[in-house]
Amino acid sequence: MLINQVKSGRLGQEYVCDAHPELVRAARNVGTVTSTRCPICDQADLRIVTYVFGHRLPAHGRCVSTAKEMRQLGARSDELTAYVVEACIECRWHHLLRVLPVGASRS
Ligand SMILES: [Zn+2]
Repeated sequence: MLINQVKSGRLGQEYVCDAHPELVRAARNVGTVTSTRCPICDQADLRIVTYVFGHRLPAHGRCVSTAKEMRQLGARSDELTAYVVEACIECRWHHLLRVLPVGASRS
């Protein structure tokens, strides 16, 4: 819906392309490249970045790039939350795909 609004010109690109520089950097360096073209700029394939938040993790979250790292976090006793974000490194559009529990709350 948001995408349609951008395409029809009702919303300017600057309102949705506001990804934090750190997110764009993570997407470029460790993001999982998808085969989905950015729906906003059509200049790059979207990348998936997963951030994990928890009270013993950094306030800005831990960027998780490997399944091994995710398993290690999942083995922790504290409750964590993973935010899976798809991002475009060209126009900085980003979109929260899903939020899932990690760690103690999962078992
Ligand atoms: Zn884009």
